[in-house]
Amino acid sequence: MTHGTDRVIITGGGIGGLGAALMLARRGIPVTVLERAAEFKEVGAGLQLAPNITRMLDGVGVLADLLPHAVRPRRLVFANAATGEELSHLDLEDAATRYGGPYVVLHRSDLLDALLRAARAEPMVTLLTDHHVERVADHGDSVTVTCADGQEITGRILVGADGLRSVVREHVVDDEPVCSGYIAYRGVVPIETVERLTDTDDVVVWMGPGCHFVQYPVRGGKLYNQVAVFRSQEYLDGKEDWGSPAELDATYAELAAPVVAGLSSIQRENRWPMYDREPITSWTNGNVTLLGDAAHAMLQYLAQGAGQSLLDGAALANALAPLAEGRDSERWCAGDVKAALHRYEADRVAAAATVQSTGRLWGDIWHVDEPVHVLLRDEAFRRRDTYDYHLVDWLYGPVLDPGDHADAVGHGPRPVDTYLTRK
Ligand SMILES: Cc1cc2nc3c(=O)[nH]c(=O)nc-3n(C[C@H](O)[C@H](O)[C@H](O)COP(=O)(O)OP(=O)(O)OC[C@H]3O[C@@H](n4cnc5c(N)ncnc54)[C@H](O)[C@@H]3O)c2cc1C
Repeated sequence: MTHGTDRVIITGGGIGGLGAALMLARRGIPVTVLERAAEFKEVGAGLQLAPNITRMLDGVGVLADLLPHAVRPRRLVFANAATGEELSHLDLEDAATRYGGPYVVLHRSDLLDALLRAARAEPMVTLLTDHHVERVADHGDSVTVTCADGQEITGRILVGADGLRSVVREHVVDDEPVCSGYIAYRGVVPIETVERLTDTDDVVVWMGPGCHFVQYPVRGGKLYNQVAVFRSQEYLDGKEDWGSPAELDATYAELAAPVVAGLSSIQRENRWPMYDREPITSWTNGNVTLLGDAAHAMLQYLAQGAGQSLLDGAALANALAPLAEGRDSERWCAGDVKAALHRYEADRVAAAATVQSTGRLWGDIWHVDEPVHVLLRDEAFRRRDTYDYHLVDWLYGPVLDPGDHADAVGHGPRPVDTYLTRK
């Protein structure tokens, strides 16, 4: 089946794929999304979206649809999971003003459904489920994917938005996901069923030895999301079924009362081993490019993976928009496609790599277990002024008020080695 010589094929209908489809269509580009599952669906857990993402979602008109389902927490709190001490917090209401977008937490399904509704309303978007892409063939002036049932679908550009274990990525680079040896248990429960010893208006990150625990409300405050992450000794021991519920309970048993109380209501049926990818310098090969976890799977410690995939979609739409302007002419010639994909990469590859690398570093800081390292980490957090944003300006910025914060404006992502250096 040929879907048109000016059509973009997107493999994967997760947050990244649907977001990209919507944004491409809004720029006049026809898109077909191929999702292997029988329906567009997310896991039953929460998601944080920082101002750098909500600002962009506001710009494409999706934020207003999300806000009724979301929660705008007051604070992002960092606490020691062993002692229960609150160490530092970010004032999220102040941050919203500083960066020009709210910090929101919401159920993943609420975000996916909002993107799906918006994508379905676009005549230029075709959404196909039960389409499991297995092979990719680039013909120079078109790309064909072959699905598990033998069906072939051809378009002008292929975007791999097919997640951590992307099939499309194999067409671009020969590498493998990197296992961190950490595992996550997560889920939402009715808020009244959780024994809560912390303020539910907050996002709380409990940092413990080789583990952390995150809590925040979602769905207008009706549900409570919790994520328990720990370094698995079972993984290090080479156990196949590593990160068991027994190991979860043993890891958290001695922690502070609010953490133990929260953990008691976390589901034990499903767990997520934590993988990321090594950053790569190009996401593109010919007419095939990548987006979201397929391009830059990252550890979740900066809470940015889904958000970054949405930024990818926006950047791709910006880069391809000039091609849509003269579709009947020669606009989609090889040179223009190449230049457009180059623009997309210039906008996103280095920026996403910085988030990937910094995510790893951030996790290392949270999970220290040597007493002297814990002491130093906690002291650094305690000394941080609530309104000192130098650790997040590079990510959530640019800062809106150039008068007060001129040094932080327009610098874009900073390399990881300067990340902890105060200006
Ligand atoms: C514990 C945890 C907490 C997180 N918290 C946050 C957070 O707070 N904020 C945030 O922004 N991010 C967070 N993330 C990261 C975020 O979940 C991911 O980065 C994001 O979901 C990636 O979206 P995606 O669309 O790129 O990939 P995916 O969500 O993996 O979607 C890929 C889609 O492609 C489909 N697919 C796969 N292969 C094929 C194929 N061959 N053919 C057709 N379809 C295919 C899949 O079925 C799926 O629908 C977190 C991650 C974890 C694990």
